[in-house]
Amino acid sequence: MSDRLEAIYSQVLNRNPGEAVFHQAVREVFDSLKLIVGRHPEFEEASILERLCEPERQIIFRVPWVDDQGAVQINRGFRVEFNSALGPYKGGLRFHPSVNLGIVKFLGFEQIFKNALTGMPIGGGKGGSDFDPRGRSDGEVMRFCQSFMTELFRHIGEYTDVPAGDIGVGTREIGYLFGQYKRITNRYESGVLTGKGIAWGGSLVRTEATGFGTVLFAEEMLKTRGDSLDGKRVTVSGSGNVATYAIAKAQTFGARVIACSDSSGYIVDEAGIDVELLSQVKHVERARISEYARRRQSADYVEYGSVWDVDTQVALPCATQNEFDADAAERLAKNGLIAVAEGANMPATPKAVELLQSAGVLFGPGKAANAGGVATSALEMQQNASRDAWDFGHTEQRLTEIMVGIHERCAATAEEYGAPGNYVLGANVSGFVSVAEAMLAFGVV
Ligand code: NAP
Repeated sequence: MSDRLEAIYSQVLNRNPGEAVFHQAVREVFDSLKLIVGRHPEFEEASILERLCEPERQIIFRVPWVDDQGAVQINRGFRVEFNSALGPYKGGLRFHPSVNLGIVKFLGFEQIFKNALTGMPIGGGKGGSDFDPRGRSDGEVMRFCQSFMTELFRHIGEYTDVPAGDIGVGTREIGYLFGQYKRITNRYESGVLTGKGIAWGGSLVRTEATGFGTVLFAEEMLKTRGDSLDGKRVTVSGSGNVATYAIAKAQTFGARVIACSDSSGYIVDEAGIDVELLSQVKHVERARISEYARRRQSADYVEYGSVWDVDTQVALPCATQNEFDADAAERLAKNGLIAVAEGANMPATPKAVELLQSAGVLFGPGKAANAGGVATSALEMQQNASRDAWDFGHTEQRLTEIMVGIHERCAATAEEYGAPGNYVLGANVSGFVSVAEAMLAFGVV
């Protein structure tokens, strides 16, 4: 990095102590930006980077609620409204015991560039809570969501900030959140949240969009080498929303998806994952993935192990940050790995990314590869604004065009900056330039 970038980075470290994943996300973007600093002195003069690293607004609040035993529980809620240069803050809510300010800031920072890459009018934000919905009854989840929204409602709105789902937040949680927003504000403001149910303003394909988009991006990367997913051995981490639809979509391209996981362990099913059974176990029954192996003869369950111990040609990490490490990258690259597309946010560690790239493995960073989810959220906002509802085919077609467009944009930018095939650089530079130009136009705000 240049001296100037190093100086801004140390400012970020000093200002945000102890937020390791946020530092990691900033560092990764800065590593790509060293190439553009000289080309755009106007960004430097206006201190665009310094401003970009400081969220426009950060909200932290208490979330008190009553559990089924009548005991009062306290959680912490967060919303980081990071950057609104391109549109209202947009990004999901994560409910997971690991959530803290640093995690929300890393996710919000990534979201700025991802949203810019989609070409849609959306800024970047993220939120969540250290609440763990696992093992909680529907009543407990509802009371938590109502309390969470009782504070959040005053900060959001269809032209201000539009949250959606993420880990631990699906249609059930969005339903409780929307219900409470509607009740407090006395407004049926569909565009205030995305990921809604189809009957009450949701968009077809939103549930599938992130996983579908990740696979579309992987297929586009493979095409650049005259290859495709057809017949490939594929491994996916996680078994939540993103993972499930990545598996389903990869199968439609003729891939053989043989392994996936949850936070307790992983399954290997050489006959190919049965998506219907997986959905039944993980989404309907909310059970552990071991249950899948218990019901399917061709499947084995490995407790506590890493799904990246399984040899594969295409890896789709769809669980969480820093789950795909250097050891996994090195071993898989030696054993026939061709491509990695990140369905999750920052699942590969910086060292893993470096190893994959130097081994010639195609690597699609989450900012680009998983942008299909937020892009379809923007399509949901479009439908809400025009009081319209599109059919599945039309919406999926739009998603496909957007993912192909993001791939082209990353590839063209990487080429322009002398790093053909480097999608990390392409995504960071392309996203940054769009946001920086808008910030420049607005003056010092
Ligand atoms: P989800 O439905 O809650 O599923 C998360 C999956 O990852 C579950 O299988 C979970 O296992 C597993 N997991 C979570 N934490 C883990 C850990 N520490 N170690 C191992 N496995 C873990 O969430 P999701 O919506 O699919 O999100 C997955 C990733 O995609 C996240 O990085 C998210 O930020 C990113 N993403 C999501 C969207 C979206 O539209 N939902 C859009 C863009 C990016 P358990 O079942 O055991 O908890």
